[in-house]
Amino acid sequence: MIRATTFKGKTVAVFGLGASGNATVASLLAGGATVAAWDDSEAGRLAAEKAGLPLVDLSKADWSQFSSLVLAPGVPLTNPEPHWTVKKAKAAGVENIGDIEIFARERAAHCPDAPWIAITGTNGKSTTTALIAHILREAGKDVQMGGNIGKAILTLEPPAKDRFHVIEMSSFQIDLTPTLNPTVGVLLNITPDHLDRHGTIENYAAVKERVVASAGLAVVGADDAYCRDIAARRAAARKPTLVFGVDHEIAAGYALKDGMLVARQSPEHDCKLAAHALLPALRGNHNAQNALAAIAAVREIPAAAAVIHPTDWPKILASFPGLAHRMEEIGHLAKPGGKILFINDSKATNADSTEKALLSFPKDVYWILGGKPKDGGIESLRDYFEGIRGAYLIGAATDEFSQTLDGDAAIYPCGTLDVAVARATAAALASDAAEPVVLLSPACASYDQYKNFEIRGDHFRSLVSALPGITMSPRS
Ligand code: ADP
Repeated sequence: MIRATTFKGKTVAVFGLGASGNATVASLLAGGATVAAWDDSEAGRLAAEKAGLPLVDLSKADWSQFSSLVLAPGVPLTNPEPHWTVKKAKAAGVENIGDIEIFARERAAHCPDAPWIAITGTNGKSTTTALIAHILREAGKDVQMGGNIGKAILTLEPPAKDRFHVIEMSSFQIDLTPTLNPTVGVLLNITPDHLDRHGTIENYAAVKERVVASAGLAVVGADDAYCRDIAARRAAARKPTLVFGVDHEIAAGYALKDGMLVARQSPEHDCKLAAHALLPALRGNHNAQNALAAIAAVREIPAAAAVIHPTDWPKILASFPGLAHRMEEIGHLAKPGGKILFINDSKATNADSTEKALLSFPKDVYWILGGKPKDGGIESLRDYFEGIRGAYLIGAATDEFSQTLDGDAAIYPCGTLDVAVARATAAALASDAAEPVVLLSPACASYDQYKNFEIRGDHFRSLVSALPGITMSPRS
């Protein structure tokens, strides 16, 4: 646990008692602060009370006693309207911060040179964070991974000279970290998202920019115009900046060239690091983008780069197991003349995410999709229907998606996932394709049939694991 020693003797309000809020309370208490914890939900308060947390009704509290308000990340700061605690804090002149700010202050106070890699972007944050942690672990480093992925940051080991904190940051968390100053800031990409909270895309991009603006080294994607502008501003300020690009041609940095991930010293000189086709957990151009970002971040930290020889990269990257539920290869089944691949992409809760899977598997796909549909459905995926051998529909989207697919793909309404897996597998077994793919990429939320996408993906895995003759892949 990281003790919040920089808050010793202060009285701190903590609002939002999920995993990170609870860890914040424990860290502040261990550091010597007095804590007033609260949550809008009665169930949250009851659980906190049971765990012995110091509950104080913040709606009735005297705010002049608080030095800070520590907010859980999802709590609205500005849009659509500031949360009531934010208004009270403002009226009393109390700062709003998040748990990553507490980490930043502890690092600044006790070990300002401790390596800290902060990762953000609209998409690919978790994959890139996990990949950076994987590479550093393979290089024998002491790695602490958390933030918006896995563990709450204050439950990790404290910053130390040879310990790498690899921290995923959502824009919500960036907003709550005013003294953010990582060793390396990675910005993957910027596309419209969460505009309900940030108002405009310009505001959203400005929040994301803070991760790299404050960093010792900035690693910035070159595939969208917002990120290119951000990289140009850093470079103009003569601050160390590295770019990487898959679609956009770059003069120097990290790139995908003829299927190879390369470090480019100049347009004429590429150092080949690994063949993209040989990285099974990093299929698709979007994952090439994530891989380039991860390689760039690690190769530019001298303490890490020194122990990785250029010829080690193929092995290190190929051993990345990938993240569960994101185009995860969960197993294969031998068939005459080839094998069927089973891919769990349950995290694809909208058409944009599913597009990445259909781009990665352009043919012989037995596609399981459906659930609670999003606005626009799967209309945007029409160009990919040609590679679909069968569409196995589940859940509430069945009628809507059947209409969209009608005439372009064979449609099999299945109702539930167990029926869909059985029918898709039988059809793939009977097909003449050498490597057909049974792909769960629903393009829908799961809530009509499951509590969340993880439970939907786990159900798919358990159904696949029960197929006679199946070989399951090791779990990531
Ligand atoms: P995040 O943590 O930002 O939500 P993840 O790494 O969990 O991202 O990936 C979630 C989904 O986002 C993936 O299943 C894929 O569809 C898509 N994705 C991942 N990386 C990228 C990328 N670099 N660019 C665009 N989309 C991506």
